[in-house]
Amino acid sequence: MPKIYFIDVTNRDGVQTAKLGLSKLEKTMINIYLNEMGVFQSEFGFPTTRHESLYLQANLELAEIGALQPIRLEGWIRAIVDDVETAFKLVPNIRHLNLSISTSDQMIKGKFQGRKTKDDILNTMVEAVDAARALGAESIGVNAEDASRTDLDFLIKFGLAGKEHGADRFRYCDTLGYDNPFTSYETIKTLAENIGIAIETHCHGDLGLAVANSLAGAKGAIDGGQDVYINTTLNGLGERAGNADLVATILAVTKSKGFADKYKLGRSIDLSKGWEIAKFASYAFGVPIPINQPGVGANAFAHESGIHADGVLKDPHNYELYGYGELGRGEPEFVETGREICTGEYSGISGFSHIMGKIEVSFTNREEANEVLELVRYANVESQRPLVEDELLFIAKYPKIAKKLLTLAPLE
Ligand SMILES: [Zn+2]
Repeated sequence: MPKIYFIDVTNRDGVQTAKLGLSKLEKTMINIYLNEMGVFQSEFGFPTTRHESLYLQANLELAEIGALQPIRLEGWIRAIVDDVETAFKLVPNIRHLNLSISTSDQMIKGKFQGRKTKDDILNTMVEAVDAARALGAESIGVNAEDASRTDLDFLIKFGLAGKEHGADRFRYCDTLGYDNPFTSYETIKTLAENIGIAIETHCHGDLGLAVANSLAGAKGAIDGGQDVYINTTLNGLGERAGNADLVATILAVTKSKGFADKYKLGRSIDLSKGWEIAKFASYAFGVPIPINQPGVGANAFAHESGIHADGVLKDPHNYELYGYGELGRGEPEFVETGREICTGEYSGISGFSHIMGKIEVSFTNREEANEVLELVRYANVESQRPLVEDELLFIAKYPKIAKKLLTLAPLE
């Protein structure tokens, strides 16, 4: 029986979103949290974007030393040979790639404006797959951008061409959020049956259906005989109305009526990290979690009306589908209401030592403390918000890697 895996694309789709961004350290923390949670793969960035090179290299080093294992770190590029070559030049250790190209008539007419035919698209894509394999890619996904507005025969042709050249997965991009659960199921089942390759669902929320379409697509892929890799983002943040939210999608796959009895996860997910990762993403993006967000919203386990409150007190199952503890909620939170010493880009050694002492980090000498402080200052230059405890611990534990991922050298 084929299985369900998760590919989180927060560090690609999430950060390319208008008005949103993350520092390199925040992206790194997200990769670490996703790994702890059991997510199969993180689309960790753009290997052709120069300001990401050192961040991507540093994260691959974390993988090499075992600090980011077993999660797979995969980069997103356009399905053209130029991008493949640039990716391997800037990030020589990259081993997992998704290659993307538009496939719909709308994009062929509206975006390429007659410069590319459907055959050109197939040829460009397979040349890029060949180049990626030749340069050492271990896994390749081929992405059909705007797949939901592409005719099915061409999608099958596209998938088969990619597969013939060694692609491992086909990403069905519902780029505009146009699908509904019925079309998502039917289309993806047909693709799985006819291409015979693992399918990725990539659903957007323009009609409020991203999670539902992901669930239906996952069922379609598995019923069609293939593994499915559901694309998600943290708190659903992504282009426009966003993507399928990671926590909500995990809940849908594991808690919805009858689904988990039939469809299984390929890697077990530690849902108890859900609360922590959603809170971190909210802090790092500077975007509050809506109070009615599934699982992690402030109201997700709140009851006021007489009948509900009475019912849930008698037996939580009366009015709760799952327990707050399953998401790692329930611990009281410590909020400083008096004097507060924060980290910042202008922090000094005294305040810094105080903060590190509180989280039980000690340094062998002043030189070492100064070095870590300097890294913390640079991290703050990028994030413009006080670092969280896990970020401070990360810098203290991996100062060399932190230095690398914090280094930005424009126009070199
Ligand atoms: Zn997208």
